[in-house]
Amino acid sequence: MLLSVQDLTISFEAGGDLSEATRGVAFELRRGRVLALVGESGSGKSVTAMAILGLLPGTAAVRGSITLEGEQLLGAAPDRLRELRGGRIGTVFQEPMAAFNPVFTIGDQIGEAIRTHRRLTSAAVRERVGDLLGTVGLDDPERIARSYPHQLSGGQLQRSMIAMAISCDPVLLIADEPTTALDVTAQAGILDLLRELRGRIDTAILLITHDMGVVADLADDVVVLENGRVVECAPVARLFAEPAHEYTKTLLDAVP
Ligand code: ADP
Ligand code: MG
Repeated sequence: MLLSVQDLTISFEAGGDLSEATRGVAFELRRGRVLALVGESGSGKSVTAMAILGLLPGTAAVRGSITLEGEQLLGAAPDRLRELRGGRIGTVFQEPMAAFNPVFTIGDQIGEAIRTHRRLTSAAVRERVGDLLGTVGLDDPERIARSYPHQLSGGQLQRSMIAMAISCDPVLLIADEPTTALDVTAQAGILDLLRELRGRIDTAILLITHDMGVVADLADDVVVLENGRVVECAPVARLFAEPAHEYTKTLLDAVP
């Protein structure tokens, strides 16, 4: 199993009380597959992703088990988690602007991400940056590489973030609401790209979304979270055809 999450309970301390953001969450993701993690806002999707990435704040108490290729990530050394992020695990978040530093060019930042994990000459890094920007469907990759974040549209930045996320050939890509902040046209473009990458690269995708349309489009399997608990877990076709849980039916009813 590529990624295995078992009995994941995440609590936050608030004013002396512990509030549980997730309770006993469990799911598994196989190599090259797309698993959608769905649920309403506040259901615990992002904290689950942050737990996998080792990015929960110190105020969070985490119990359970998270293994990637058999390696336990809960309680792993911070250095090891840093190495995995941007290496074996790529990430795409909702806010395209937040992924990039405004004072460096896109090319420099993707190049830096590559250099952190790979020993390549400067020329090889530049070439790889150009290839990646082309792979994610950006016209004129060289111009994009020379651009600063504010010079690009939300859709172009999101594609650049995906280029950075796949720059070290991750085995796992975590995409948390990758289209939510974009306009409808850019959303469709990013979905097309993810669908295409899915066929082309061997990366498993943990796709976090509240959009069941996106799930229908991209996922193999679906985990439904309600108030931090898994209420249903099924292959996408079965979930849409015969949702077993009332909450899932509510989510599906919201699909236009
Ligand atoms: P979503 O499914 O919308 O991504 P989240 O995973 O962000 O939901 O949040 C799940 C729950 O955890 C929410 O109740 C949220 O308020 C709580 N939570 C998230 N981050 C923190 C934090 N840093 N401190 C306290 N509570 C948090
Ligand atoms: Mg979220």
